[in-house]
Amino acid sequence: MEKIIIGNFKMNTKPSEFKSYAMTLATKTKGTKNDVIVCVPYTHLETAKEILTESVVEFGAQNISEEIKGAFTGEISAEMIKDLGATYTIIGHSERRAKFRETDRLVNKKIKTALANGLKVVICVGETLQTRQNKQASAFVKKQLDDVLKGIYENELDSVVIAYEPIWAVGTGKVATPKDIQKMVELIRKEIENLYSEKAGKNINVVYGGSINLSNYKKIISIDQINGALIGGACLDVDGFSAICRENY
Ligand code: PEP
Repeated sequence: MEKIIIGNFKMNTKPSEFKSYAMTLATKTKGTKNDVIVCVPYTHLETAKEILTESVVEFGAQNISEEIKGAFTGEISAEMIKDLGATYTIIGHSERRAKFRETDRLVNKKIKTALANGLKVVICVGETLQTRQNKQASAFVKKQLDDVLKGIYENELDSVVIAYEPIWAVGTGKVATPKDIQKMVELIRKEIENLYSEKAGKNINVVYGGSINLSNYKKIISIDQINGALIGGACLDVDGFSAICRENY
């Protein structure tokens, strides 16, 4: 079964280092049936366009401004990344929520801007360790979904991937148990069904992210009803990431 494999570079690698990465990834993923996406720093997009356009690999950014254009010093718009060939953006990553104080309200605004500009969106949701220990994880993720999807239409969900990323598992080496991941994926589908329709709940793309690596990816990506993976640290190793992307799941 085809899967969606998304790499998140975060603020790693220099533009000059990305060229050889992109060339290797393009070569090593040739012929894969999986959807392969790399979300790179803005500074790498031009090279991504040059090297990856003819390959199976799509590329995107890790954030966009909620604004379209104008006096927003230091911001990058959806239109700008689209012009460089990006087809995706990640929105609402837990690092942006925690370190840049992005709220569900802002995340919602950014999702609308991305979709209105023809970008596909990876929307991150997930709970803190404390929320999980307090047995509030399901209620927390459900509310996040309700808030960030406000005003998004059902026909736009084809351009949406929901990434379940428990915050305590991102970049920590700790992975949620397959049972907990499966439970949360089911909850996400159920909530999409409540918000939209049974069909939408069934068709929505849901991936897991949080400390996936070469030794645990098979077990996680094979979980029932999971469409793929969002991979941070481990995507920086192009050989390992390519192997995950090439896998016939
Ligand atoms: C991420 O950045 O979205 C992520 C899942 O990171 P890591 O794989 O390093 O936990």
